[in-house]
Amino acid sequence: MNQEVQKLRKQLRTLENKYQQLNQEVDGLHDSLRQRTLELERQKNVMKHQALHDVLTGLPNRTLLEERAQQSFQIAGRENFPCCFLMVDLNRFKEVNDTLGYHTGDVLLQEVAQRFRLQLRSSDTLARLGGDEFAVALPDTNATQAEEVIQKLMQSLTLPLKILDNKHTIQMSASMGVAMFPEHAQDVEGLMQCAEVAMYVAKKEQRSAVFYQPDMKTHSEARLSLVGDLKYAIENNGLELYYQPQLLTEGDGLPSFEALVRWHHPTRGMIFPDMFIPMAEETGLINPMTWWVLEEAAAQCAVWRAEGMEVCVSVNLSARNLKEESLLERVRGCFQRYHLPPEAIVLEITESMLMDDPKQASEVLHSIDAMRVEVSIDDFGTGYSSLSYLKYLKVNELKIDRSFVMGMQKNENDIVIVRAIISLAHNLGLRVVAEGAEDQGDWDTLVALGCDRVQGYFISRPMQVKAATVWLKKWISEHENI
Ligand SMILES: [Mg+2]
Repeated sequence: MNQEVQKLRKQLRTLENKYQQLNQEVDGLHDSLRQRTLELERQKNVMKHQALHDVLTGLPNRTLLEERAQQSFQIAGRENFPCCFLMVDLNRFKEVNDTLGYHTGDVLLQEVAQRFRLQLRSSDTLARLGGDEFAVALPDTNATQAEEVIQKLMQSLTLPLKILDNKHTIQMSASMGVAMFPEHAQDVEGLMQCAEVAMYVAKKEQRSAVFYQPDMKTHSEARLSLVGDLKYAIENNGLELYYQPQLLTEGDGLPSFEALVRWHHPTRGMIFPDMFIPMAEETGLINPMTWWVLEEAAAQCAVWRAEGMEVCVSVNLSARNLKEESLLERVRGCFQRYHLPPEAIVLEITESMLMDDPKQASEVLHSIDAMRVEVSIDDFGTGYSSLSYLKYLKVNELKIDRSFVMGMQKNENDIVIVRAIISLAHNLGLRVVAEGAEDQGDWDTLVALGCDRVQGYFISRPMQVKAATVWLKKWISEHENI
């Protein structure tokens, strides 16, 4: 009997031990589950933070700003108090990036963010929207109070910024656009737009801050939406390249093409380059636009070459492109991607662009020359450049501005100028292209003057790629027969 009891007790102890052990394991499991949950929670928070904040400055991003502004406006609408929305853009920030480098630009943005933040209440939301653009939502703030905040923000910039171990001192300023809720708009998007319109006015008039007024909108709104449409077109293949041929006046060498960008707006129809190119220049969209043109022209050039037509394509660069550090890398990348020889693409740069910043232009031209890529000076004769200066620049071609060519038959002076440009260019070892040849008379004169290539309606208007290919094939077949 005793033995029986002892055996049972032993079994009970073993069971108790097992139970304890199991309990411990369960506790352990609970612990690690809890830790895992905490870790997940932490990761989720980090991701949420990243999704709602700007990495560089740690400030809320556009999404969080909109979220918070939305909440404030809802409350403000219910309780009947005004709110204010500011759009802030630093002046001449691009110059800092260009001259001192992106790293300095980044440090500067962080410093500005810090200074602004110190001037605001905890209920205000300061956000960075991208680049050098900031926005501030000020709940429960009327116009007079908004002016005080603007003063404080401006004031905070007056102390020069010392950057990179005090090596650089930079004086910053900003342009601000101000919109009031509910006066100017009742939703966040509308208010942001109004503030942006006012900010552009401030920039244009070189004022530090401008309050939105409804009559600003009619003009600016159309322009703003066009800027947005252009951005969309660049990003979504909404632009198209047209190709205008250039013929050699001597020999039987293949024609070449100038690639010209065109924009068929989905609702407004064809928008002229004179309208959207300056707009692209002003808004900085010229960079992505040129990169698109470069890529597209290189791809098309490769297609023609693959079919045995060894044509060259000229691409127009803008002054902003020359200041862009990535320009050379992008050009090089295009040649590599499409296996093009250096002569396949010619880069056209206008004369006025070269004169804008001759030192920098000359440096870029040197680097382009090192890639053995040819450069053409576009619109030559209109930029008042000192002619002797030309011989120091690494260029291969001059394009005589169409205004001289078109005037040749009526104006003796224009012939004199065209002749002088051709002779000057040849003396410097440069090729000459005349633009704007409209009829047989122009062609004959240019041939007689010894111009090397001619471009203009007399030869062909700019054509869509299909028509240009047909034109090229026809030209080749005609010249094979001869
Ligand atoms: Mg051109």
